[in-house]
Amino acid sequence: MPPPRSFSTIVLGAGLAGSALAYHLSRLGGREILLYDEAYPSAGASGKGAGILCAQCWDPWDAQVVEETRKEYRDLSERHHLGGYLTTGGIRSVSTVSLLPLLEERRRMLEQLRVPVRWMEPAEIGGAVPGIRVTDLKGGLLTPGDAVVEPPEMNFLYAELAQRAGVELTWGWGFRGLRREGAGWCLSTLGGDFHAAEVILTAGAHTKRIAGALGLSLPLAPYRTQACRLAPERDAPLFPSYHDTELDVYVRPAPGGALVAGDGTESVESDPMRYNPGADFPFLAHVAEVFSHRLPLWAGASVRRAWAGLCVSTPDRHPLVGPLGPPEGLYVACGFNGFGVMRAGGLAARMANALRTGNWDALAPCAPSRFPRGGVAFSPRPGFTLGGEDGPPGPVR
Ligand SMILES: Cc1cc2nc3c(=O)[nH]c(=O)nc-3n(C[C@H](O)[C@H](O)[C@H](O)COP(=O)(O)OP(=O)(O)OC[C@H]3O[C@@H](n4cnc5c(N)ncnc54)[C@H](O)[C@@H]3O)c2cc1C
Repeated sequence: MPPPRSFSTIVLGAGLAGSALAYHLSRLGGREILLYDEAYPSAGASGKGAGILCAQCWDPWDAQVVEETRKEYRDLSERHHLGGYLTTGGIRSVSTVSLLPLLEERRRMLEQLRVPVRWMEPAEIGGAVPGIRVTDLKGGLLTPGDAVVEPPEMNFLYAELAQRAGVELTWGWGFRGLRREGAGWCLSTLGGDFHAAEVILTAGAHTKRIAGALGLSLPLAPYRTQACRLAPERDAPLFPSYHDTELDVYVRPAPGGALVAGDGTESVESDPMRYNPGADFPFLAHVAEVFSHRLPLWAGASVRRAWAGLCVSTPDRHPLVGPLGPPEGLYVACGFNGFGVMRAGGLAARMANALRTGNWDALAPCAPSRFPRGGVAFSPRPGFTLGGEDGPPGPVR
């Protein structure tokens, strides 16, 4: 076993959250940073996300984080010639009259947040989403600023840029444990031990378990969500990502004329050590049914790949980003409730600054201290439904 090595900061988990954080920390300079993943960058949810950057924001602070993230992905994609970032716009529709007030409420809220949004009549939706059946639709909202990105592409770029700026990227050595040692932390892996004054837990669905082993009960609940990549008979053109809020299926254009479709949240907690990473039959049957009804042009598309990944929920559906101490030097960035791609870049920039200045004001809405230290019992609840952004906490298990 090699002798232990020392760093200023260990970022534990190289998904989008950890890689973006390592990138932003490296830009601030002056520290020795280790970005460690027990598997590989993008092995978790970031390698499985649908990559929709939409207007699911809950207040002006959040709308700004989402906008900062979008801008960063757009700029980085342009600078590094990545093809995955596309401004497509997004449409959410309803087919039940009684849901129209909720949609109208959503429109007013987005306007207040200064997010571009406008009402769409069914016929207009028909012109925007190829082959969509609109006869039973009552209307929808268009948010023209919505975009899509290929999450693994962004994840690898952040990790590579961080590495080029001097961050040590280590992956594939099994995780043995994290423990307090003196005034700092010791990360023990099958490839050796690493010491640091500060550790940031960015291990996605595994974060709760890692913190639990340190005696900390974090209000996080991993849950399973599924998606699939479809190849239509004829290449799909670029169109706004589309979400049928009642049938609960979203679809977005993907590179090469493909489509990515998925559903929302499983409202039970999953064990990351035992969950099923493959899609299940009821999910695919549901997508097929929704396509036959709503998107008949693509009902004959073949399934190229279908999968499940783990997202992580919190009791109030807002992320958990900030210090966990005491003990000192332990931080977390997790709990993105299925919307981590569209917030990772912006939150990482703010967290890097906070770690270096000690001022966490810019992340106050995500402070872990908003929950009692002893933990909170709750179940994951859907956030992709209308009104799900700010609904009441999920039922206690
Ligand atoms: C099917 C699906 C669709 C989605 N669609 C969208 C979408 O359209 N828009 C959106 O914004 N979000 C979407 N998401 C959510 C988004 O993908 C996640 O919120 C985001 O990727 C979380 O990033 P993360 O870095 O926190 O976690 P992860 O990407 O899970 O990264 C955690 C990393 O930690 C590593 N790790 C685990 N244990 C350890 C350990 N002990 N030591 C070191 N490393 C460890 C893992 O290997 C992994 O690489 C979707 C997710 C899924 C599954």
